[in-house]
Amino acid sequence: MKPTLAAPGVDRALAHLDELARISSLPDALERVSLSPEHKLANALTAGWMREAGMETWQDQAGNQCGRLEGREPDLPALVLGSHLDTVKDAGRYDGMLGVMLAIEVVDRIRRSGRSLPFALEVVGFTDEEGTRFGTALLGSRAFAGTWDDAWLGLTDRKGTTLADAARAFGLDPAAIREAGRRPEELVGYLEAHIEQGPYLEDAGRPLAAVSSIAGARRFALTVTGRAGHAGGTPYDRRRDALVGAAEIVVEIERVAKETGTIGTVGRIRAFPGGVNVVPGTARFSLDLRAEFDEQRDGAWGRIDAFAREVCARRGLGWSVEEFYRADAVHCDPALQAAIEEGIRTVDPDPPVLWSRAGHDGMAVAAVTGIAMLFLRCGNGGISHHPDETVTTEDVRAALDAFEAAVLAVADRHGG
Ligand SMILES: [Zn+2]
Repeated sequence: MKPTLAAPGVDRALAHLDELARISSLPDALERVSLSPEHKLANALTAGWMREAGMETWQDQAGNQCGRLEGREPDLPALVLGSHLDTVKDAGRYDGMLGVMLAIEVVDRIRRSGRSLPFALEVVGFTDEEGTRFGTALLGSRAFAGTWDDAWLGLTDRKGTTLADAARAFGLDPAAIREAGRRPEELVGYLEAHIEQGPYLEDAGRPLAAVSSIAGARRFALTVTGRAGHAGGTPYDRRRDALVGAAEIVVEIERVAKETGTIGTVGRIRAFPGGVNVVPGTARFSLDLRAEFDEQRDGAWGRIDAFAREVCARRGLGWSVEEFYRADAVHCDPALQAAIEEGIRTVDPDPPVLWSRAGHDGMAVAAVTGIAMLFLRCGNGGISHHPDETVTTEDVRAALDAFEAAVLAVADRHGG
């Protein structure tokens, strides 16, 4: 790997992340949710940094913070660089924010270089990627992508405040949120830099990766029904124990997931009636199933469902399935992904390619324009959504060089 010279933009980006980490609704931890006073403050700070980098700034009708640097002539379509400014509870300081700060530094570098690009550059700091406040994720990026649903105005937070009321208190017009939607012809594409949130790059000893796709997920509420009975009085040949049936299925989920390269997680399980001396009559559990390709995920689900039917038939149990969430995998635009790989080659001759196991704003943005992502190694085993989230200055420097080079590679493909 080629050594890089000192880069003032790296130190500044890291200082900005430290500053953002202090804008929290909690005294000793980081939490910054959508449409809150902290959101307003983070947007204002970010807007100031965007202007220092030479951008015109505005906050859109959904509360996304936007900035724009014109290309070689005014009003050209924009290549959008972005990520999110909101956080989970007790968050780290790099998830989302790092991508926004790197985007600002890329714009600053390109403006200072005097290069004029065949498109405008826009930076977006999305609100509400995490869904921390209203329980529904990607609200800012879905508004941006033109897939906002006014039904979300009725979502409520922990205190019972509706999204519509929170938007009004923030200074937005709830009826106008859908106007944040952009048209495909205004956009060249979307590039996002983000920490990996997993251990692959750390284990491989590599700083950066290009992303091939963002996982598609399906979530199920699953119920096994048997018959409750006295723990002592019900002999084994008469038991219809729903929890033991569920346990067999849970173990099979892990086996099928490992065999098929998918990820299956049972995060919640409950037995009813739930007495220590009662054979469980009902077991309910959740399943989160994700994969790089939808067919792979659906194939794994088919095997799990068939196995569950067989177990339940053998044990005299009932099996019912409710699917409550489904998002198909989003594949990166091949030309934009190639530009990201070309960018990474300025610091690593053989860029790794990963699929993202976590969701990102790009999933929503893909509804309006092509997307690609740059992943950056995070330390401590890749821990994220946790205050121990960490990156090295060296890796941030590599990411900034690669992200800038990726933007220039897109410009070259546009005859720039
Ligand atoms: Zn994130």
